[in-house]
Amino acid sequence: ARFMPRRALLSVSDKNGLIPFAEKLASHGVTLLSTGGTAKALREAGLEVTDVSKVTGFPEIMDGRVKTLHPSVHGGLLGREGTDDAAMEEHGIAPIDLLVVNLYPFEESVRKGADEAGLVETIDIGGPAMIRASAKNFERVTVITDPEDYAPLLDELSAGGTTKAFRKQQSSIAYGRTAQYDLLISQQLHEGDAPPRRTGTVGRIAQTLRYGENPHQSSAAYRTAEERAGVLNAEQHQGKELSYNNLNDTDAAVELAAELRDEAAVVIVKHANPCGVAQGQSIADAYKRALRCDPVSAFGGIIAATQRIDRQAAEEITKIFTEVVIAPGVDEDAKELFAKKKNLRLLTIPELPDPAQLRQILKPIAGGFLHQDHDTALFGGELKTVTKRAPSEQELADLRFAFTVAKHVKSNAIVYAKDGATVGIGAGQMSRLDSSRIAARKSQDAAEAEGLSEALVKGSVVASDAFFPFADGLLAAADAGATAVIQPGGSMRDDEVIAAADDAGLAMVFTGMRHFRH
Ligand code: 5GP
Repeated sequence: ARFMPRRALLSVSDKNGLIPFAEKLASHGVTLLSTGGTAKALREAGLEVTDVSKVTGFPEIMDGRVKTLHPSVHGGLLGREGTDDAAMEEHGIAPIDLLVVNLYPFEESVRKGADEAGLVETIDIGGPAMIRASAKNFERVTVITDPEDYAPLLDELSAGGTTKAFRKQQSSIAYGRTAQYDLLISQQLHEGDAPPRRTGTVGRIAQTLRYGENPHQSSAAYRTAEERAGVLNAEQHQGKELSYNNLNDTDAAVELAAELRDEAAVVIVKHANPCGVAQGQSIADAYKRALRCDPVSAFGGIIAATQRIDRQAAEEITKIFTEVVIAPGVDEDAKELFAKKKNLRLLTIPELPDPAQLRQILKPIAGGFLHQDHDTALFGGELKTVTKRAPSEQELADLRFAFTVAKHVKSNAIVYAKDGATVGIGAGQMSRLDSSRIAARKSQDAAEAEGLSEALVKGSVVASDAFFPFADGLLAAADAGATAVIQPGGSMRDDEVIAAADDAGLAMVFTGMRHFRH
């Protein structure tokens, strides 16, 4: 059975699309009630509207803090057909069967960096109260909380009225909306270093994904109130929709590129791990250097560049199959080249995120989730030379670069680098020694592929995301050809490790800060 609403209350802060929508409601014979600003906008458009203050017999007071908080409104929304007829009759309450509300723009106040008073003034009280009342009474009342649902509602009305399924669906959307709104308020009011009593995240669906990590897993991407440049607000110029894995990998690529944003640099990611990262004279140069590190893994990879992609860079990138390219801009003639690669997804973001900007990291575990701050730091402070030999200027630059990359490699992470380019990356091993060996092995393979007699790691530096617990991993790196080492330090056996480094003629610096990434 369909139900045609007779009386609607409209109270919206975001007035986009309001007028044509309200005109259609009126054309279906729906009577319109409204609050101050909304009523004004409707009247100016020539619509007939009754002020809520007329219904309540009470003016809007306290700068709008109290407008609709009145039994005539809430009784009209909550009253059950049949059960509450007598009460409504007795108190002169007329039913309201359609509520259209969107809330004071609290998210916008956060985005604009409003002060405490500014934030508090954009906490909507009457709006959520009406939304929750209507959503509870979905048996009779339709609640619309998002301008995106104006069109679906009008479709329902054209079909003769709303179905219960539609009202219940809108009720679910409504409670999701108020939960998201209140959670953001809660997070904004939280102060101090102690974790908040309750937290979490509520997102708005951005995209239904074909499937999750595997085809048998259903999946979608959600947008939260977090204001951070990244793949979810990138512009896609060509190619199929991004998949779950694409989104995950592109996020990893962008976050590492962000750390290198002061230089022309390119990051190639596979399975959320970088498999080649380099700085260069240009993006084309950086890409070629990044690709050398592990050309086999780079096939079908995700590429993030720190600067605009020009035609020359596009020429290099399109030589092999790449899934995603993302950059702060792409030249027109580069776009033409990419257009020939139908399966390549090309994305631009206005800017790379600030790596120091805080971001929430949530990780579900059975029965709950873990929360931590995003790893915004990089070096604990001044690098401390712990060996007899201090690194040369060039080694030092490479050490910093290698450690920056290592922070973005799944632990245990070992990264060899030379002249601003990675030459061997060992990721995700349960033993640091294995990561060290794998990185060296990969570098050997890359050299063989190029027909070089010597592995690229010869004369490189090496970074470890956490301390070397024993000297073996460090010695494996020295054997492979590394001349300098960067690691957090802090092992019980630091003395042994330092002595081994000295024996091997290595220069080693400690950062004092580790960067596990699991
Ligand atoms: P208008 O622009 O129509 O004057 O105000 C619309 C906004 O007021 C909507 O965002 C709605 O959620 C909000 N609103 C409606 N009733 C109340 C109330 O009683 N108190 C507060 N604080 N906001 C309300």
